[in-house]
Amino acid sequence: MNKGDVKIVYIKKNSFIYIIGGHISVQYQILEALIEHLSIKFIEIYGDVLKEIFDIGTDDFFKDFISKIENSIKHIPNQIGKIINVYCRICGEYVNVYVKDSLIEDAEDYPVALVYMHHGHSLLLYIDADFKVRGAEIVSITG
Ligand SMILES: [Zn+2]
Repeated sequence: MNKGDVKIVYIKKNSFIYIIGGHISVQYQILEALIEHLSIKFIEIYGDVLKEIFDIGTDDFFKDFISKIENSIKHIPNQIGKIINVYCRICGEYVNVYVKDSLIEDAEDYPVALVYMHHGHSLLLYIDADFKVRGAEIVSITG
């Protein structure tokens, strides 16, 4: 969702709701990739002690959490997604679009359709299993 100049993405997994926010210029795909990755890492790292959360101080519990998050934001998007180059006919320029690996790899059918918002217009991209753009159309959005 959009909230002013902040984009917010959340997912619910098991008993947890994970929320991440970013500047309006950050693509949803990047935020989604990060939150998927961090939710997995969170359980891997903290899962064993989650049951004891009320028995230990939250200061200790989250001692390394912030530095791990900051490290992830710097490095993870490039490890779990790809940047594809797409031509926007309206702007007459190529734009870099981040696509998380799971969007393509977990797809049930190809090409995968993805709408990319670009300067007030929207590009409908068709991406094949090799992250190649097979088509790009200008489309209208409603909600
Ligand atoms: Zn454009």
